[in-house]
Amino acid sequence: MATHGEIWVYAELEGRKIAGVSLELLGKGRELAQALGASLAAVILGDRTRALADVLFAHGADTVYMAEDPRLAEYTTLPFARVLTDLVRERRPEIVLYGATPLGRDLAPRVASALRAGLTADCTDLQIGSYESGGRLYQRKLLQIRPAWGGNIIATIVSPDVLPQMATVREGVMHVPEPVDGRRGTLIEVPVQLDKEPEAVRILERTTHPRRVDLRAANIIVSGGYGMGAKENFALLEELAALLGGQVGASRAAVDAGFIHPDHQVGQTGTTVRPKLYIACGISGAVQHRAGMEESGKILAINIDPDAPIFQLAHYGIVGDVREVLPRLIKALKGKL
Ligand code: FAD
Repeated sequence: MATHGEIWVYAELEGRKIAGVSLELLGKGRELAQALGASLAAVILGDRTRALADVLFAHGADTVYMAEDPRLAEYTTLPFARVLTDLVRERRPEIVLYGATPLGRDLAPRVASALRAGLTADCTDLQIGSYESGGRLYQRKLLQIRPAWGGNIIATIVSPDVLPQMATVREGVMHVPEPVDGRRGTLIEVPVQLDKEPEAVRILERTTHPRRVDLRAANIIVSGGYGMGAKENFALLEELAALLGGQVGASRAAVDAGFIHPDHQVGQTGTTVRPKLYIACGISGAVQHRAGMEESGKILAINIDPDAPIFQLAHYGIVGDVREVLPRLIKALKGKL
């Protein structure tokens, strides 16, 4: 299929704003576009979204495809999938990227299945490279990189034959590019043609539950694992986090044990974080936990076991019982502050 050599980022809306993950994807999209000599476009579907085009241009989009229609004011699967599928058929981008958000995970498979295109979910990296199969060399393909087999291997997945190549990408793993105020591009209005799709689902009521904690924005995270021993001991983490102006994170084992709400989970199936300081308390350092925090600026680990894998990753380590070390740390900090 001949393509227009464009890389597309699906610009997801969070209320009246562009979702952070979509801005991250514009940064990565720019890198991929440079590697391919292609141009970068953002696609936005919604109602009264015009002002947001400037945000997309400022973050690197050369083109913005904008489908504005009152029937797209709220996300519902069928109308959004229909408009996007039609647009992909018409414009034939080479690559389409989505955030691995609840919306992206709902929309991308619909579009992929309508187009009979490949889709890799939950990527943590994307590169352009070549790939050989059956004696044939495929060049300039999207290498879709993600943990597989419970995080024990890093798989590289390629959709060699069918276009567009599509992927959803985890939130927080890529950097938001510095916006360039006043940067301009081409705005293309997309006509919205819908038949019965909007009638399939009617939204009767919309309730939003804000996340309890925004770990991605935190500069300091004090995280607790199963080694914290009990829910009550998380009060120590909260006290330390409050003293440091940070947030409380957790391992999945701590969440599964009911020590803390799942919104606090860091790791492969939790949030990917990149704080300046990550304090891992009673966390062993399993590969799935590391996947979510190994890019932290500095890592301090507190663990009773000197051979715990977390110490291989940590810049600073304290071998000891969290129930003894944390109160001493809190006391020392209180004295200083
Ligand atoms: P443990 O591995 O039980 O480690 C507890 C640690 O505490 C040990 O190192 C121990 O020495 C130490 N300790 C015990 N008592 C004390 C004490 N009193 N003082 C100090 N230290 C003490 N995990 C995640 O965290 N996030 C994810 O997103 C995630 N996703 C996953 C996805 C898949 C598909 C799978 C299969 C697993 C996933 N896991 C995830 C689970 C992961 O494999 C580990 O089981 C989990 O990270 C272990 O949590 P933990 O380190 O708190 O517990």
